[in-house]
Amino acid sequence: MAHPVPDPLLAEEYLVGQRDPSPLFREAARLRDEGHGHTVTYSRKVFIPLTTLCFDTCTYCTFAKPPGAGGEYLEPEEVMAVARAGERQRCTEALFTLGDRPEDRWPQARNWLDDHGYESTLDYVRAMSEAVAAETSLFPHANPGLMDEATIRALRPSNPSMGLMLENISPRLMEPGMPHFNCPDKEPRRRVATIEAAGAAKVPFTSGVLVGIGETPAEVVASLFALADLHERWGCLQEVIVQNFRAKADTPMRRSAEPTAQYLARVVAVARWILGPGMNVQVPPNLSERYEVYLDAGINDWGGVSPLTIDWVNPEQPWPHLEELRNRTAAAGFELKPRLPVYPEFISEEWIDPTLLSAVREAADGDGYALSPQMEASS
Ligand code: SF4
Repeated sequence: MAHPVPDPLLAEEYLVGQRDPSPLFREAARLRDEGHGHTVTYSRKVFIPLTTLCFDTCTYCTFAKPPGAGGEYLEPEEVMAVARAGERQRCTEALFTLGDRPEDRWPQARNWLDDHGYESTLDYVRAMSEAVAAETSLFPHANPGLMDEATIRALRPSNPSMGLMLENISPRLMEPGMPHFNCPDKEPRRRVATIEAAGAAKVPFTSGVLVGIGETPAEVVASLFALADLHERWGCLQEVIVQNFRAKADTPMRRSAEPTAQYLARVVAVARWILGPGMNVQVPPNLSERYEVYLDAGINDWGGVSPLTIDWVNPEQPWPHLEELRNRTAAAGFELKPRLPVYPEFISEEWIDPTLLSAVREAADGDGYALSPQMEASS
């Protein structure tokens, strides 16, 4: 099996099940072992849904809500209360996830920002990131939708990493009847531009694919190649998430088929194959029953797991208890280690703003992973 440039047609044949996947899984596991050994990481986090208002209306989403029906901003005191509770639980990441520029659609959002003295939702993200970074031991990881380079540079002194899911590179998903119809923030070129801006600003960046929203296997492969290309040009992708669509009641896609575990495992293995041994490849463990199968498919990270807050994007899917995650990871032959929201290989003057660098280094062990909660508790 060739590496580092897999054949896209062969990758697609694996995805559609035209080939025995055993060689693919063997190669994916070999590449993961080459790059990461048998260490599997997670980030101990709190989830801060800064606003559940959004400009867009993706047809699988229950996170975004209209004003008066759950769409609102968290007040600054509420943000800090969640962050301080996370600090008491020895979390290291404050994940800011929110809807895209709601003020451009909802007058209530514009009014809330005016009343609180913020120019925009992204300005509020910056202010809250700075407050969390200054007043707690948590490191913010902003995931606020599309950003230009100036916004990313403004967030860099308070965020050691940031993120935006590519989801899929195909503009077909924006056509009438598709999940991103009338969702301008899901325009793939604009999402690629955000990742490029992160590269230009030297920000370690998280992205990934969302699998099962109506895309074809060829479009999954094209999306993974697009991410590989972005990383080759900018070097900024610290991790790639392979996330499976889960159908939610009260959404237009409530009856859409979810990807099977077998299919998702093949996508994960193809991702590892395309992205190579060095990339951190992640599957969220709360979106699958038998999440260990993705270890055989080449992942080395479980992403953010919270001992405190729910997954606001998939609120019906609780995160596994961390002890359970550790035991099930160990039973599969891997050691679970906590990491910071920035991966060890990006902890450097090149990638972390000088405002944050010493705090990040102090929070990391000699290998760049997070000091483990047990170690901190006993010290
Ligand atoms: S998926 Fe994101 S962009 Fe789409 S409606 Fe939900 S919050 Fe908005």
